[in-house]
Amino acid sequence: MVMEKTDTLVIGAGQAGIALSEHLSKLDVPHLVLERQRIAERWRSERWDSLVCNGPAWHDRFPGLDFDDVAPDAFAGKERVADYLEAYARKFHAPIRTGVEVLKVVRNDGRPGFTVTTSAGVFEANRVVAATGPFQQPLIPQLIPADSPVTQMHSAAYRNPQQLPPGAVLVVGSGSSGVQIADELQRAGRQVYLSVGPHDRPPRRYRERDFCWWLGVLGEWDAQKVKPGREHVTIAVSGARGGHTVDFRRLAEQGITLLGMTRSCENGVMQFQPDLAENIARGDENYLGLLDAADAYIAQNGLELPPEPQARQLPPDPACVRQPILSLDLAASGVSTVIWATGFAVDYCWLQVNAFDEKGKPSHQRGISSEPGVYFLGLPWLSRRGSSFIWGVWHDAKFIADHIATQRKYQAYHASTPATAAPVRETVCQAAD
Ligand SMILES: Cc1cc2nc3c(=O)[nH]c(=O)nc-3n(C[C@H](O)[C@H](O)[C@H](O)COP(=O)(O)OP(=O)(O)OC[C@H]3O[C@@H](n4cnc5c(N)ncnc54)[C@H](O)[C@@H]3O)c2cc1C
Repeated sequence: MVMEKTDTLVIGAGQAGIALSEHLSKLDVPHLVLERQRIAERWRSERWDSLVCNGPAWHDRFPGLDFDDVAPDAFAGKERVADYLEAYARKFHAPIRTGVEVLKVVRNDGRPGFTVTTSAGVFEANRVVAATGPFQQPLIPQLIPADSPVTQMHSAAYRNPQQLPPGAVLVVGSGSSGVQIADELQRAGRQVYLSVGPHDRPPRRYRERDFCWWLGVLGEWDAQKVKPGREHVTIAVSGARGGHTVDFRRLAEQGITLLGMTRSCENGVMQFQPDLAENIARGDENYLGLLDAADAYIAQNGLELPPEPQARQLPPDPACVRQPILSLDLAASGVSTVIWATGFAVDYCWLQVNAFDEKGKPSHQRGISSEPGVYFLGLPWLSRRGSSFIWGVWHDAKFIADHIATQRKYQAYHASTPATAAPVRETVCQAAD
């Protein structure tokens, strides 16, 4: 039994679903947003307590609303981001239904549109947009057996240092989550080991401008493709404690033991790749490369921004980089917890349509999928590097809303222009004898 019909059903009310709803509303496209929990749920319950935005408040927001109580160069806390997104949705009366989980989407047979089974009944829609997030399923490499005495958790489950059992902590992953969690734990008095992989580490600020500004003016947020060989390179930045440049040597100076990439675990002994110095050096290259590009931009445009030669002075390599530890006996080192800051996967098992490639990845061009009427929004690199971030998804949402409005025009034309009558077939009637 079909309960409700709408033109476009948007699944997920995070920043992506809200941005799309705004654009669809402006274009008068009838739509509904279904959210299984609360608006901006991930910012509320899937991030650690002290998390603040990685970008400053003037940057990490939608174009139509400021953070009125956060200074432009400060970093909004995670609850504040969730409140902001809620307020934004209220501003244009976004038609969001919370507490409704989408369980199955299938294409209708012999008629247009999709049937959408949810926890609150069945919907029908001409189009569906999957806005269920870039980071859906925490990924934990299966290296340490589940029955090991060590506590294992993903960064999405980490909340604060008090939550962990006493003892040292191994944090695996050197993107923004891994470095921020390792730093917080070390400052809380824990002994911390940090497994460092390939990473970019832009300066927080250089010559009085935040790295978000530099990546913007240098066109980096608009890059359309990951550079070859850089597919698994994370970005290590932090807005914590007012914002600072992530520098692994300084983390080591502070007391964190750096390790190379995590390779395996056998009988409670972790093995690491001998790549720590190389990963740190590549991170430095990225850091210095951005300083060079910024200097060139300043010179070319004649900007008056004060020189900052001290930004090029890097501290010497600490002992843990010079003589890297290649194996660590977890019990003997007192490690009671391993935190995997190793990223996320997506799960579209509910979307049972022809919109995926042979590897099960969404098959799309700028979010328009290979199944007509199905769209993806919010995925990393959907159209550019900025696509999964707050400011970037807004522009992708505009593009998808425009595409939907155009498709509606084709349908309106079809509905208003009946096909000419079928040609009359000549029938020779035989006279009955
Ligand atoms: C630790 C961390 C820090 C980040 N910091 C920043 C930052 O500082 N600045 C920035 O710009 N970006 C940041 N990001 C990236 C990005 O902004 C967030 O991941 C953001 O949550 C993505 O928004 P979204 O709307 O695309 O997806 P999500 O926020 O994941 O929203 C998807 C929604 O869909 C719902 N949903 C899922 N499945 C279903 C279903 N079947 N039925 C109904 N509803 C469903 C979920 O409950 C969720 O509310 C960060 C990401 C992480 C992990």
